[in-house]
Amino acid sequence: MKILVINCGSSSLKYQLYNMDNNEVLAKGLVERIGIDGSNLQHTPAGKDKVVFEQPLADHDQAIKLVMDKLTDSEVGVISSLDEIDGIGHRVLHGSEDFKQSIIVDDKAKEIIRSHFDLGPLHMPANLMGIEACEKLMPGKPNIAVFDTAFHQTMPPKAYMYALPYEYYEKYSIRRYGFHGTSHKFVTKRAIEMLGGKAEGTKIITCHLGNGSSLAAVKDGKVIDTTMGLTPLAGFEMGTRCGDIDPAIVPFLMKKENLSPDEIDNIMNKKSGILGVTGRSSDFRDVEAGMNEGDEKCKLALEMFRYQIAKFIGSYVVALGGCDAIVFTAGIGENNSGHRAAICKYLECLGLKIDDEKNAQRGKEIDFAAADSKIRAFLIPTNEELMIAQDTKELLDK
Ligand code: AMP
Repeated sequence: MKILVINCGSSSLKYQLYNMDNNEVLAKGLVERIGIDGSNLQHTPAGKDKVVFEQPLADHDQAIKLVMDKLTDSEVGVISSLDEIDGIGHRVLHGSEDFKQSIIVDDKAKEIIRSHFDLGPLHMPANLMGIEACEKLMPGKPNIAVFDTAFHQTMPPKAYMYALPYEYYEKYSIRRYGFHGTSHKFVTKRAIEMLGGKAEGTKIITCHLGNGSSLAAVKDGKVIDTTMGLTPLAGFEMGTRCGDIDPAIVPFLMKKENLSPDEIDNIMNKKSGILGVTGRSSDFRDVEAGMNEGDEKCKLALEMFRYQIAKFIGSYVVALGGCDAIVFTAGIGENNSGHRAAICKYLECLGLKIDDEKNAQRGKEIDFAAADSKIRAFLIPTNEELMIAQDTKELLDK
């Protein structure tokens, strides 16, 4: 079975074609600057060099058409015809309360996705455009929507409700949803396997630490709490996002700085986080380099990051009633042993001890807890595209 995975942004599109018999990636690529001058496709067939095609692409239909052409091309293609593709898995940002798992897209589903554009105004229209372009270009092929929020839909109301007037939940669906669900699901599955294979009885905390970051508390394989909220702004300090702050700061700053709702939203999403604190960069490598050069603000930004994560982990140990394993994943979680060690240091009071030599490794699956640690510490590289492909296959098999 061959599955195409598509992740549509407002002006970009990432894709991977999988052979699900062995989970092999046959080709992958990226289209950038859709609808903008300088559109291009970067296409990499497995085992071959990347090839770049530059040509105007007015919309997602044209971008996906170009991807299809290259996948079936006699030189850079990997399949002889689109008939070989059994289904298309699409990453969709927000499933609201309507979608608790991945679904085969039909007209009703599209209508519901469209009705929730306001929950993800940057991503949701692009996600739907990708689905509709595939419907047009590959009529009859099933399109599967895999939602970033779905894995978190098992949270109980006490974890997902905000203490605002209840009518806002009823009127606008304002509640905690959580994001990065596909990544949390992927690493949870692996962590359960590393703990022996049975989900029942397991207590796991997954830390997706990338440019955007979130944590999830997972009991018996099901999320019971997560750090992101109605939007991906909530939680702890990220590359450019502030995470949780006193909500009263919002009207305070709006009045003091004469800011519109869009302006304050932009500050909290794009100009805060480690970028805001350091004034230097949103990239954790740059900020770490700054800290090593003696920049106090870089040191502060990274200390805040580690401390806030450790505090959330502590609260999740209480929520779970214990903890078997803490999982680190995504750009920072997989690559930076210093942040992992510093976060784990806070958790020594809970009986977590790490093996520094094992922790020095990066980018591959490992249990880096010391032999006598009461909690396991796992590094598990995430693979959201493979998770989307596996969900797609599971639905098609049914
Ligand atoms: P992601 O969103 O998962 O792609 O992660 C992106 C983040 O991972 C960026 O802020 C990078 O600085 C960070 N990252 C990648 N490699 C490293 C590394 N070796 N050390 C620290 N951060 C890293």
